[in-house]
Amino acid sequence: MTALALDADSLYRFYRSGEEETLALRGVSVSVDAGEMVAVTGPSGSGKSTLLACLAGLDEPTAGTVRVGGKRMSARPEAERAELRSGSIGVLFQSNNLFAHLSVEDNVLLAQRLQKRLSPAPSAVEILARVGLADRARALPSQLSGGESARAGLAVALANDPVVLLADEPTGELDKATEQRLLDLLRTHADRGCAILLVTHSPHVVATADRVISLLDGQVR
Ligand code: ADP
Ligand code: MG
Repeated sequence: MTALALDADSLYRFYRSGEEETLALRGVSVSVDAGEMVAVTGPSGSGKSTLLACLAGLDEPTAGTVRVGGKRMSARPEAERAELRSGSIGVLFQSNNLFAHLSVEDNVLLAQRLQKRLSPAPSAVEILARVGLADRARALPSQLSGGESARAGLAVALANDPVVLLADEPTGELDKATEQRLLDLLRTHADRGCAILLVTHSPHVVATADRVISLLDGQVR
């Protein structure tokens, strides 16, 4: 039996500042299989971004386990998490996915250089072609439209052919047509075997997903 692409078991994340304690995640379990697109919804403050950060290894859960392609991501030093992340996980945020002083192509190349690879990565040109940006390779982020920025962010997230793509409200700033184009690209990548989990408020994204996980007060509803 092959391991799930993404498997998180009983995640807890508590924030403490002085006397104040916030229980951002209270026993959340999530798994996403290769080829699956899962949407995570819930009101503001329900723990969506905290969950995504723990899944990406950007944050460390207080308790619980995250596995990516069968490898444990949680309870590891930050440098090890970063290495596992850069090889196995693509992360896409609503904005600020690009370094402003680098061209679109150089942003993709940088993400590729940060990863010690065993097998060659797809070329930056090929990745940009996959997201429909072959002719924008030399553009700077400030020269891109909203939809182009979102697709360039996706190109960076996909630079190392990740087994898991995690996205936090990736269509939050996009109009309907642009959102649809990004969703079509995400679906294409799921069909190539990528496991996708996206935090979203968009009813359209929810309707497109294979499965929906709804959070409330740090728990799966
Ligand atoms: P969502 O993305 O669903 O809006 P978050 O995961 O950002 O929710 O936040 C969940 C809860 O954790 C909220 O109550 C928020 O205030 C709290 N929280 C998030 N990050 C921190 C932090 N760094 N320090 C303290 N509390 C935090
Ligand atoms: Mg959030």
